[in-house]
Amino acid sequence: MNIKPEEITSIIKKEIEKYEKQIKTVNSGTIIQVGDGVSRVYGLDDCMEGELLEFPNNVYGMALNLEQDNVGCVLLGSEEGIKEGDIVKGTGKIVEVPVGEALIGRVVNSLGEPIDGKGPINTKETRPIEVHAPSIIDRSSVNEPLQTGIKAIDSMIPIGKGQRELIIGDRQTGKTALCIDTILNQKGKDVICIYVAIGQKQSTVAHIVNTFTEMGAMDYSIVVSSTAADSAPLQYLAPYAGCSIGEYFMHQGKDVLIIYDDLSKHAVAYRAMSLLLRRPPGREAYPGDVFYIHSRLLERAAKLSPELGGGSLTALPIIETLAGDVTAYIPTNVISITDGQIFLESDLFYEGQRPAVNAGISVSRVGGNAQIKAMKQVSGTLRLDLAQFRELEAFAQFGSDLDSDSNRRLEKGKRLMEILKQDQYQPMDVTKQIAILYATVNDFLSDVKVSDIRRFEKEFLEYMDTHHRDIEDSIIEEKTLTNEIKSRLEEAIVEFKKIFLKDA
Ligand code: ATP
Ligand code: MG
Repeated sequence: MNIKPEEITSIIKKEIEKYEKQIKTVNSGTIIQVGDGVSRVYGLDDCMEGELLEFPNNVYGMALNLEQDNVGCVLLGSEEGIKEGDIVKGTGKIVEVPVGEALIGRVVNSLGEPIDGKGPINTKETRPIEVHAPSIIDRSSVNEPLQTGIKAIDSMIPIGKGQRELIIGDRQTGKTALCIDTILNQKGKDVICIYVAIGQKQSTVAHIVNTFTEMGAMDYSIVVSSTAADSAPLQYLAPYAGCSIGEYFMHQGKDVLIIYDDLSKHAVAYRAMSLLLRRPPGREAYPGDVFYIHSRLLERAAKLSPELGGGSLTALPIIETLAGDVTAYIPTNVISITDGQIFLESDLFYEGQRPAVNAGISVSRVGGNAQIKAMKQVSGTLRLDLAQFRELEAFAQFGSDLDSDSNRRLEKGKRLMEILKQDQYQPMDVTKQIAILYATVNDFLSDVKVSDIRRFEKEFLEYMDTHHRDIEDSIIEEKTLTNEIKSRLEEAIVEFKKIFLKDA
């Protein structure tokens, strides 16, 4: 046989080419250690940070620590049956969740898998759970209100679409209740709501889903649930998954509201995960990048520019404090990332002032621009009146004699505090809020007993509904309280007061 040397070299070259290709298609490694929900894998040379990995038994994992000679990863399922020496395959993609209209009305886990027993979710689209937040040029300023339906908030700490407003307070101060009411209030307002439960009790989540279903809120809501029973990695992923699901709608030009309940537990889950991966602990044993995990989550809330469809993602993260200490590590972090915070206080809560919003130290740094003018007109005086009331109240406690002017302010303040009380599951339309707040700040209620104030409010609003629908309509139409509307409103208030006081 006559073989030319060139032929041989060309065959060898081809072989080498093929050989390289084969290597590229299989990115795999071997488990060298597994336990406590984490695993170290040798190999996986082309692994990406956050890559989805395939473990045996249909268990998935996520690569987190890319080290020189191994990859540290967390398991997103049970580690039963997974042992040293098993093969792990890379998938070449970042962990992602299914997104789309089909998710509305569903309860899913951190991986977007349905857990409500209503069958598979029919959607083909997916989104990575971590993406870059919209850039400055992609955004427009917050300019539309997101009505919570809660008087104390819509009047004094208004939230705008695309804003990030922190809800912070001790345990059992009504943090969750406030967010649930906000979701209930979005009914018929064309806002898609996502409730992300992180490390909560299963019974609590079930209760919330029931409430949503009963009140018809599931028609426009999605619940992403990772309960206390889930592994730390799943709890860690939940808010990012929820955020991606929400972003999909935002990029379609829709308005989305997302609740992260709560980020304290999220930080704890991340700490557990990081310590197991042997990342160095920092302050309060949290890893050094705990600030970054929250900032890159909350930065994804945005109001998009008109060119990008003008959609929005409003985020209400919740943080639980210990004994009102807002200077702890995680609270200070999240306070600095958000556009304001709503403080809920145990003392107020137990005094019966619910929602227990401390109006003195709660702020909303951008929502003011979004508030409708009519509300601004009544809330300006409201803040001032309340501030004066708080000062006087401290004095009055010492039983000191007060001059008549101080007394008047004190009495007014007491009535305002009554008006700001609001029961759970009773969100209120902004026009109704304006009507009753207008009556209070303009001293129409000074001759109604403090103990009668809440009854007055209820009956007055019913009266307005039956006899003066037109006033509410005018407020919606004009968006501001013109002199003409004011005088009509005042007339109605005086008229009703006559009836009310006669009965009393
Ligand atoms: P946790 O720290 O356990 O998550 P939380 O701060 O989320 O608690 P919630 O669970 O929302 O607090 O509320 C605590 C309790 O207070 C609940 O029983 C709830 O029904 C009640 N509650 C909350 N808001 C109000 C309100 N406006 N009026 C009356 N009761 C309320
Ligand atoms: Mg709660």
